[in-house]
Amino acid sequence: MITYNGKGVYSAVAIGRISIYKRQDATVARIEITDKEAELKRVEEAKAKATEQLQAIYDKALKEVGEENAAIFEVHMMMLEDDDYNESIRNIIETQSVNAEYAVSITADNFAEMFAGMEDSYFQARAADIRDISNRLIACLTDSGTDSELGAEKVIICADDLAPSETVSLDKEKVLAFVTAFGSSNSHTAILARNMNIPAIIGVGEEFLNSVKDGDFAIVDGFTGEVFVDPDEETLAKLTKKREEDVAKKKLLQDLKGKENVTLDGTKIDIFANIGSVDNIGAVLMNDAGGIGLFRSEFLYLENDDYPTEEQQFQAYKKVLESMAGKKVIIRTLDIGADKQVDYFHLDKEENPAMGIRAIRICLTRQDIFRTQLRALYRASVYGHLGIMFPMITSVSEVKKIMEICDSVRADLKVEDIPFSDSVEHGIMIETPAAAVISDQLAPLVNFFSVGTNDLTQYTLACDRQNPKIEQFVDTHHEAILRLIKMAAENAHKYGAWIGICGELGADTTLTETFLRIGIDELSVSPTFVLKVRDAVRKIDLRKE
Ligand code: PEP
Ligand code: MG
Repeated sequence: MITYNGKGVYSAVAIGRISIYKRQDATVARIEITDKEAELKRVEEAKAKATEQLQAIYDKALKEVGEENAAIFEVHMMMLEDDDYNESIRNIIETQSVNAEYAVSITADNFAEMFAGMEDSYFQARAADIRDISNRLIACLTDSGTDSELGAEKVIICADDLAPSETVSLDKEKVLAFVTAFGSSNSHTAILARNMNIPAIIGVGEEFLNSVKDGDFAIVDGFTGEVFVDPDEETLAKLTKKREEDVAKKKLLQDLKGKENVTLDGTKIDIFANIGSVDNIGAVLMNDAGGIGLFRSEFLYLENDDYPTEEQQFQAYKKVLESMAGKKVIIRTLDIGADKQVDYFHLDKEENPAMGIRAIRICLTRQDIFRTQLRALYRASVYGHLGIMFPMITSVSEVKKIMEICDSVRADLKVEDIPFSDSVEHGIMIETPAAAVISDQLAPLVNFFSVGTNDLTQYTLACDRQNPKIEQFVDTHHEAILRLIKMAAENAHKYGAWIGICGELGADTTLTETFLRIGIDELSVSPTFVLKVRDAVRKIDLRKE
């Protein structure tokens, strides 16, 4: 038995035979040509063909993994039309008098290298997309296929890396797992694998591909990121059991879809989902969350290289609200600073950024940014049930100032005759000890509290959440944290506000009963934990001491 280690991107176990993904040889010869016009015409024809293929892949993805995930193939179609990309191909053909395949391949190398060299992991992952569309274009130019045919048996697909279009083109019914030598967990391939519910491991290294061959028997453990080739009996028995337990557990969770979040004694709680991007809505709906308890809006700022406009933000918020069809959506205003730095904000370098100018402190000092976001939020509010939530609150005066700004933004909209909903809820995050301690003074000012246990833990225990060395000192169940949550819950209810938990602790099912006893009204967890928490809630009986 040989064990290889990579990174699991979808937690499940697969046992079966390996099939090495076969791809057309992408090496392209440089051939000098005389008729440049004819070569340019070939590129145009190949582009039309590639677009047709991508449209078919998009339609397949739409059915299998939903609109949000299929969108990457629309992006691919757009990339094929990109001016810079096309100009580069044209220039190479015209200035070097070379064949179209060669011009595409050099352009692909240049663009992929440029993306790979970017600091942002999102853009790094786009290098794979450039290679994907370029390989397709070259295949169309040479009239060869790109998609691998699979036999009748279900197999573990192994490859150096898989492009998104390759992942989706594979017949899902015949794939047990994906294992790639390279790849990033941010890549669309990883995202697609997760959405296809197929165990997947990336980054097992080149050595793996050099050693395995078609037909080798292997086990893929997506939980640990391990691949066991030619497993011994003990490992086989252990992993077979693990797979059976996992399948049974997932089935049980699926059975929980559509069921209420209610304890044995009849106490109900809302279970909502946390999202960081509009793209996550598919997962929210698939996991049957009752709403969105935390939409970290800063992704709009992190993804852009300039301040997102009111219109861009409005479109994103509207989409989330419309997709949730009247279910509650809590959007948090931007939480930039600390670990989330954005160049164009030009924030000063700080000794302790977690305790510096971040989140609401930026909004209150740079109100133009804040007002733009608020205008977009109120404008979007007519498309659903919106809650606006403010992060990093420490004082009553901050909340009063925020509410004044909100009033003034709504007054402006009224003057401009722009509609907004009258039933927008306003809430604050309880993520500093100060906010919890003065929660009796804060509760009358808002409709809800949401406890950010990630920051509340770091500030209460004086443990930097970014510092892995300090983990041994982080007791997430520390009595101080639980007392602060309890205090906030009592004060919220005293003044008619509701209280949720949106930090990671909300998904800790060893505390679900405690939270119910404290009177927490809502738990907002990552979409994949919604059913797990529902399962825990339904087993609790608060009548028992
Ligand atoms: C928190 O602090 O618990 C929280 C939910 O916010 P974030 O993790 O985005 O800081
Ligand atoms: Mg926080």
